[in-house]
Amino acid sequence: MIELRDVKFEYTRGGFSLRVPELQISAGTRAAAIGPSGSGKTTLLNLISGIECPEAGRIDSAGVRVDRLSPVARRAFRITNIGFVFQDFLLLDYLDVLQNILYPYRLHHDLRLDADARNRAQRLAADLGIDRLLDRRPDELSQGERQRVAIARALVTAPKLVLADEPTGNLDPATKQHALDLLFEQCDALSMTLFMVTPDHGLLDRFDQVVDVSAFGGSPP
Ligand code: ADP
Ligand code: MG
Repeated sequence: MIELRDVKFEYTRGGFSLRVPELQISAGTRAAAIGPSGSGKTTLLNLISGIECPEAGRIDSAGVRVDRLSPVARRAFRITNIGFVFQDFLLLDYLDVLQNILYPYRLHHDLRLDADARNRAQRLAADLGIDRLLDRRPDELSQGERQRVAIARALVTAPKLVLADEPTGNLDPATKQHALDLLFEQCDALSMTLFMVTPDHGLLDRFDQVVDVSAFGGSPP
């Protein structure tokens, strides 16, 4: 599902580089990325999703060599194949909850906002316990509710791969475990692969694989 080989990446502005000799995450599994702040966890997710492109090496994500795609094709690949849960949720305050969940459909014409998509949004909202809130705005929600909207938005396109960047940051411990339960349940139900950054070592025994990103990152030589 995810495979990196001999990957080298350095920001053009310099100062940080990532070297990944080998990384494999099998389809349908749950992997966690750990490492101190600044070790390159977000950079690694950005390489896997094609937001960033490596200088050398190969990156397979969801069956596609993302390192070989043009910038336009990488964006299309990302929107149509990958679900993201961002650290700060990145909900849009001018849209209501339902519109936020369906937001990916505004981003690319390959995603069709048809009856199936609307049904999936409704079902996800019900499964995540936010179906009462569909006409609220994000600023009328609690943190835990916003989190669940972000999870629903990441899953609504039924992506093969879900990337989550510290999605349980800023949540209290009980809400954190619950959010993870919901994310895992949905990934199982839809046979999705999950790669999630978490600073929370207490959650790691719930994952199939733990990737220590500090082994890859560093300053350029
Ligand atoms: P983490 O997610 O583990 O905290 P990041 O991947 O965000 O780490 O960042 C790794 C390093 O790369 C940091 O030193 C950060 O300052 C640097 N960095 C992140 N984004 C950029 C960028 N766009 N240009 C230059 N350096 C960056
Ligand atoms: Mg980060």
